[in-house]
Amino acid sequence: MKLIKYMFFSLLTGILGKALTIFFDKNVILIADREDVYMDEPLDINTLKPDTYDNAMDLRGTPTHVCVCGCNVWHLKVMFEESQISQYFLDMECASCGSLATAPTPVDDRNELD
Ligand SMILES: [Zn+2]
Repeated sequence: MKLIKYMFFSLLTGILGKALTIFFDKNVILIADREDVYMDEPLDINTLKPDTYDNAMDLRGTPTHVCVCGCNVWHLKVMFEESQISQYFLDMECASCGSLATAPTPVDDRNELD
């Protein structure tokens, strides 16, 4: 009887082991802390600035939509007329790393910006 139990247990662990091997070959399991996944409350817009300017660069010259760090949110100064942006300065600062860049204008070819 012990031999049958041993064979059954070996067969079961073999099947389970094979299933687990296939599962882990196809999938990746990530374990994250709840604090890393959920925000308690939305961030204030004034917190959209780099903690340090150590990695900031001066990229001004060629108009761009995206910073070299991958961020596409910029700080720049604008003027409004009739509820629309009427003018803006061309110097802008990346909200993530603080690099300076040149804002695109309507006359810039969109194909050259990407
Ligand atoms: Zn950046």
